[in-house]
Amino acid sequence: MTAEVETKHFQAETRKVLDIVINSLYTERDIFVRELVSNAADALEKFRHHSLVEKVEFDEHVPLEINIDCDDKKHILTITDTGIGMSREELETNLGTIAHSGSSRFFEQLAEAAKKDVNLIGQFGVGFYSVFMAAKMVRVQSRPASGEEGHEWASDGAGTYTISPAPGLHRGTKIIIELKEDAQTYASKFTIERIIQQYSTFVPFPVKVEGKKVNTVQAIWSRSKNEISEEEYNEFYKFIGNAADEPLYRFHFNADAPLAIQALLYVPKENFEVLGMGRMDPGVNLYCRKVLIDQHSENILPEWLRFLKGVVDSEDLPLNISRQSLQDNSLVIKLRRVLTKRIIKFFGEEADNDPAKYQEFWRTFGIFIKEAITSDFEHREELGKLLRFESSTGEADEMVSLDTYVNRMAEGQDSIFYINGPSRAAVESGPYVEMFKKKGVEILYTLEPIDDFVLNHLGSYRDKKLVSADRADLDLSKAVVPQAEDSAAADAAPQEEPLAQDAIEPLCAWIKEVLGERVNAVKPSSRLVDSPAMIVNVDGYMTSSMERLLKASGQDGFGMGSKKDMEINAASPLIKKLAALRQSDADFAADLAWQMYDNAKIQAGLDVDSMEMVRRNYRILERAAGN
Ligand code: ADP
Ligand code: MG
Repeated sequence: MTAEVETKHFQAETRKVLDIVINSLYTERDIFVRELVSNAADALEKFRHHSLVEKVEFDEHVPLEINIDCDDKKHILTITDTGIGMSREELETNLGTIAHSGSSRFFEQLAEAAKKDVNLIGQFGVGFYSVFMAAKMVRVQSRPASGEEGHEWASDGAGTYTISPAPGLHRGTKIIIELKEDAQTYASKFTIERIIQQYSTFVPFPVKVEGKKVNTVQAIWSRSKNEISEEEYNEFYKFIGNAADEPLYRFHFNADAPLAIQALLYVPKENFEVLGMGRMDPGVNLYCRKVLIDQHSENILPEWLRFLKGVVDSEDLPLNISRQSLQDNSLVIKLRRVLTKRIIKFFGEEADNDPAKYQEFWRTFGIFIKEAITSDFEHREELGKLLRFESSTGEADEMVSLDTYVNRMAEGQDSIFYINGPSRAAVESGPYVEMFKKKGVEILYTLEPIDDFVLNHLGSYRDKKLVSADRADLDLSKAVVPQAEDSAAADAAPQEEPLAQDAIEPLCAWIKEVLGERVNAVKPSSRLVDSPAMIVNVDGYMTSSMERLLKASGQDGFGMGSKKDMEINAASPLIKKLAALRQSDADFAADLAWQMYDNAKIQAGLDVDSMEMVRRNYRILERAAGN
């Protein structure tokens, strides 16, 4: 009796992926060979490591290699590896389901990427399915390293696959591909040799086509820098990073003390997290003496460096260390610290050497530096050096570092000032920068919602406190800017005569009475120039932008953001008129006070009761139109 053949349906997500792969990819079919060879290499790496950690009893002397056979009569391509292999269950889960989140966004992005550049497909962890670009039938025969009997998985890529026992296999995986009519070139050994040379030269195991080795096995990172060409470096990046283009930065670094480290790291051109692919897996592999110990290692670098691709090799590590024990191995922790410091330093040097290129890096990966500041306490100050913001002194789009800011700070200034807002234009037209402009004191514009959160974490830089300009206790009096005050004042229109002290105080008290509990206090301002009013925060941590951030993340339930003052400008014509109006028409004056308060809140980026505001606004407009 023939052994039981089971027919199964692909998971719905897998069918979608197959659909995208088969129907939207017409060009660059070559890459399926690369994907299968890279899977074979992964399987060999896994076996090599497995054999170091555990005793292998089955097929222990079979050499670690990849064999490719081309039958150009029958149009069959066969790729065989002697790697870790797959059990029946593994065949099903690995080749029948998608490990990734099967969100609709994932599929959109995959379809999009597939149209744009087939090479991107490897990044999505669905490389195996690319075989169906060229195959009308695929059989995967696999036997796990444990020696447990093997199985065959077979499919034409339509809706189903079969699984059946396949006795008598060697350890590893054999993929037998029956080629489509228009893909028969892949049964030619010349085609395959060309593809291996193009994409897979760095595979660290022999790749043999019809028995002849076609790749040069080499650990590029262990060679000396001046022996490696630009091209080799870039090719290695494409290999290790599954990338199609060139990297943005490359960092090849060797050290002997305190630890022996060889690291070859790359920064890609694109941030795949913002491309909608969810959180990236780490992209750096950990080796010990050229043996892969931990692929996509979560231990060798801090999480925020997950955008890096490459290799770290340290001969100080024990070869037979298991993945679990890497986590709290003190040597690994030490390695991570040394590497992190070197990488941060590298970014700093790149920023000094080529600011324009660094700006490009910052726009793409700055978000990870910000994440680092909120999560990596140990390197906070060094990380602060890498931050960039727009500033009142810089041109639009020009990014300024905290060092640049501190270096040109006015005499006596003891803080680094910043203000958050949705755009440069919004910030510059708002009330918070008025006194800064007038005094010529530089202020940073933090234009991303999380920026204030990040700067709060940083706290200070080079002993200068980081202070949000919407704080109630802001003090600009110590900053002495030579001449700026005079020249700015001379340029400006003659200042209005401010409301006298004995008029402004009662006006403040009256406004407070009108607004009631909604505001903590109403005070005369020492820093408004043109605007009549502004909202300031009594608690220095809870800036308006922090409040927005908490609200956006659904954490506004603590009432934390409630303590706010309103400052009013005694020199503003509106304030002066209000002082008179409250005597003659208190109701209308109250409407104006409320409207001013709402306007100030809007300028602070805070929510207002818009329905209430519209009703009030119509009352005011009616008066303005004359009645
Ligand atoms: P990825 O390689 O990104 O995980 P693939 O679609 O290329 O995605 O492969 C899916 C999974 O199938 C792999 O993670 C691996 O577990 C398994 N696999 C594929 N090819 C082999 C092979 N030759 N030997 C062992 N396992 C394999
Ligand atoms: Mg793969």
